[in-house]
Amino acid sequence: MFPSRIWREMPQRYRLEASICKKCGKRFYPPRLICDQCGFRKFESYNLPEEGKLQTFTVIRIPASQFSDQSPYAIGIVKFDDSLQLMAQIVDCDVDKLKIGQKVRLEFRRIQTDKSHGVLSYAYKLVPKWY
Ligand SMILES: [Zn+2]
Repeated sequence: MFPSRIWREMPQRYRLEASICKKCGKRFYPPRLICDQCGFRKFESYNLPEEGKLQTFTVIRIPASQFSDQSPYAIGIVKFDDSLQLMAQIVDCDVDKLKIGQKVRLEFRRIQTDKSHGVLSYAYKLVPKWY
């Protein structure tokens, strides 16, 4: 990814900034320019809640070769209090102990280093809250 794009996307990546359509109220993360529900172009930004609930998940035990060092790993869909849903990898957990309804939070993790530009890039991942 180019450094300019990384800088442009900083608010949503680092502050979990999402947007809400001013006309129909649909919520988006990452933010969009046009609402896919009503076509409106004005949004208000808000920060995602710190945690959501795991709606469903699947465990990948035979991954594509570039992810073989992470196997087994889980991919899940998290729903936040305000109805927005996201899909992401679930990390820092024993995949056999995951449960639907479990509380999870979004965290940024490094995913790759761009060697030619010296830029580290990150993505959000889900981290279960164990009590
Ligand atoms: Zn809308």
